[in-house]
Amino acid sequence: MALWTAAEAADATGGQSAGDWVAHGVSIDTRTLAEGDLFVALKAARDGHEFVAAALNKGAAAAVVTHRPEGVPEDAPLLIVPDVLAALEALGTAARTHTKARVLAITGSVGKTSAKEMARTVLARQGRTHAAEASYNNHWGVPLTLARMPKGTEFAVIEIGMSNPGEIAPLSRLARPHVALITTIAAAHLEAFDDISGIAREKAAIFDGLTANGVAVINADVDTSEVLQHCASKKEARQVLFGQMSRDWKLSHVTLSEGQTMVQADTPRGALMFKLSTAGRHFAMNGLGILAACEAMGADPVQAAMDLSHWAPPTGRGTREVVTLDAAHEDETLILLDDAFNANPTSLSAALEVLASYTPTDHVGRIVKGRRVAVLGDMLELGPDEIEMHAEMAKDASMQALHLIHCAGPRMRALYDALPDARRGVWVERAEDLATQASDLVDAGDVVLVKGSKSSRISLVVDAIRKL
Ligand code: ATP
Repeated sequence: MALWTAAEAADATGGQSAGDWVAHGVSIDTRTLAEGDLFVALKAARDGHEFVAAALNKGAAAAVVTHRPEGVPEDAPLLIVPDVLAALEALGTAARTHTKARVLAITGSVGKTSAKEMARTVLARQGRTHAAEASYNNHWGVPLTLARMPKGTEFAVIEIGMSNPGEIAPLSRLARPHVALITTIAAAHLEAFDDISGIAREKAAIFDGLTANGVAVINADVDTSEVLQHCASKKEARQVLFGQMSRDWKLSHVTLSEGQTMVQADTPRGALMFKLSTAGRHFAMNGLGILAACEAMGADPVQAAMDLSHWAPPTGRGTREVVTLDAAHEDETLILLDDAFNANPTSLSAALEVLASYTPTDHVGRIVKGRRVAVLGDMLELGPDEIEMHAEMAKDASMQALHLIHCAGPRMRALYDALPDARRGVWVERAEDLATQASDLVDAGDVVLVKGSKSSRISLVVDAIRKL
């Protein structure tokens, strides 16, 4: 289906279109570019103009550029603009202006991508739904997602993230959501803020772009909930709260068991029960927020509650797999919980609770004498109190239920030192060194959680365990 014609793109961006072309998609990366895409030559680590010839050779319908790069034929289909990022934003703005879709924007310190995927899963069963394939939540990801929105979209789900103060409001104004959901507020990127209220105020900037009569869906259980509610009031948004402390979408009961979650909630639609095919109280909360958002989007939350069971966490966010340790003996297995995508104290606590909920079983579900083992890498971007915050995690209630904790990284040393001797596994400086000794860290029958910030490289341990 045609996404952009030369005339529409020129009109949206104010650019000069050379050639008459029709694009079926939008791409910023020649490695993933599909034939018929409009290639947008953004400047990142390298200048996208260097790749225009390659994009056209790969079948790009046209390229958005500031000038015709050397080596590109004079008659090449180009859209010449003064600023390529501004042009991408303009395409996003135009797509948003012309769509009839209801738009849901999602932010939060953690849970954005998980919740975006939940929303996609349930909304796609009720109407034509558009959401980015990946965590495209920044200054180019949000306009790109909007610019890629197919005509005829009924529900759009836009994830909005931030690394520094001031980033959320302009992205929200670009997306102009009818509904804005904040999953949770936690100590993430704390080094860029004075305190956690500062983080809450920044996240609440997602309400800045709400349409008239827009709805703010707010986590009632976080300490900063009132800050969020105050910010929503200032924007005159209708507020809907979710969580144990909520009177709107109240979480009444959560049971975690062997890789699944049963949730009971009291909602404006009456008592609802839903099941997630993944364990996690945090996922129950995200799910409840999504149901509240669905209702505000005009979708059916009762149907959505049933469809939540089809959701699976994105890679590295708590995915569960059975690893066979010795191919010759299929009963030599362990359960691997891959949560190595990222970590901060809130998401680590959530993951530890999941691990603590497991009873080690063998490949046919018989209870075995396995252990609950955590393999933890450093949590980064926590600011000046990072060492105390790591040590504090040793006191997390779920730690009592674990058998062994292995740690990697200078910050995790603080947690390791604070552990009782009986639970201490090994500590090493670098995740690489844990990966090389993976066979000594875990055993058949174990349930193993691997978690740490992306740049702690703790995912190397996940790779190593898979190869055992
Ligand atoms: P990032 O900003 O790092 O891309 P994100 O906000 O998109 O993250 P996810 O990728 O969904 O969040 O999840 C990151 C981690 O946080 C995962 O370990 C996930 O299991 C955990 N998580 C997801 N939702 C919550 C929640 N509501 N509370 C605590 N932890 C959560």
